[in-house]
Amino acid sequence: MKLGIVGLPNVGKSTLFNSLTKAGAESANYPFCTIDPNVGVVPVPDVRLGQLAALYDSAKITPAVIEFVDIAGLVKGASKGEGLGNQFLSNIREVDAIVHVVRCFEDTNVIHVDGNVDPLRDIETINLELIFSDLEILDRRIAKSTKGAMNDKSLAKELEILKRIKVHLEDGKLARGMEIEDGDEKEFISTLNLLTFKPVIFAANVCEDDLADDGISNEYVERVRKFAKENDCEVFVICAQIEQEIAELEEDEKKMFLEDLGLTESGLEKLIAASYHLLGLISYLTAGPTETRAWTIKEGTKAPQAAGKIHSDFERGFIRAEVVNYQDLLDCKTYSAAKDKGLVRLEGKEYVVKDGDVVLFRFNV
Ligand code: GDP
Repeated sequence: MKLGIVGLPNVGKSTLFNSLTKAGAESANYPFCTIDPNVGVVPVPDVRLGQLAALYDSAKITPAVIEFVDIAGLVKGASKGEGLGNQFLSNIREVDAIVHVVRCFEDTNVIHVDGNVDPLRDIETINLELIFSDLEILDRRIAKSTKGAMNDKSLAKELEILKRIKVHLEDGKLARGMEIEDGDEKEFISTLNLLTFKPVIFAANVCEDDLADDGISNEYVERVRKFAKENDCEVFVICAQIEQEIAELEEDEKKMFLEDLGLTESGLEKLIAASYHLLGLISYLTAGPTETRAWTIKEGTKAPQAAGKIHSDFERGFIRAEVVNYQDLLDCKTYSAAKDKGLVRLEGKEYVVKDGDVVLFRFNV
């Protein structure tokens, strides 16, 4: 699961990416590896892990992770091949969701590529490149389906959908804001892998002073919020520069620093958690003396497939799952106490695993 960080030059993408990967590198127990300098493996903050690990005196904590990709270089004209444009657009096509960094801070020392700060114009510049790129794909599909539709009635329905998306995009709007029927229609659009159909989080990059009230007094942020609401996207207020400073600090220093800013959680942590959620991901947990660990699954995953995340043998030989909600387990203090209270359930093949389930799988080898 990957998120791509996009935005115009000089809006704070690299600063954000560096603080994300720095946080990743410093998560002591995660075997951090650099796949590519533009890809960062980032642990998902989860207070439940520390609490469970304390209960079991676990030797190790392993958080869930997601990948962030720094997609620099998207500029005006990218869809026409400007500045290696097409390569960047194909990088975006590979990600599951987009974090779109928008500059909402004033700083005369940091040059804006278009002269002044104007988040809506910036968003539009990037979106237009994404739209142009999608229109090319649509035109090719329309040409293909038009030929096929003469002999195949099912293609006629596809053709109708393709043309409807085209009209919507030509109006300068994103495919994800379109009215779409759930089911076949939505599934068909997903197979097109359109850039403008991917989920988006806007990261409104503000100055330090705007953090305490979550950017409410910043007029730029308000404009981004309004746009996001109209286009079915989310907004997070961050200060990339501060995040970079926070990422350099030790855990206890970090807490003090945040308190001074009037915050309980860094913007980065909120952004990572929201990204995880945006991808439709949840975590179930396993806990014991050797390790307490979060396992990533898609919402709606059934027990055998969830077990398969640990090992394919667990899925193949699945018998049942012993499940207890993490809060129930914490309240009871021990697994056997939770069992005595009837809070540990036995679940079968059809059970849909929930976020925060602490699970023990029974399986045949
Ligand atoms: P990118 O081109 O989008 O990757 O932008 P960078 O992350 O390289 O940032 C461009 C410049 O803006 C750098 O000099 C950063 O130090 C500065 N910058 C990034 N975030 C902030 C911020 O939140 N506030 C201020 N004042 N400057 C920032």
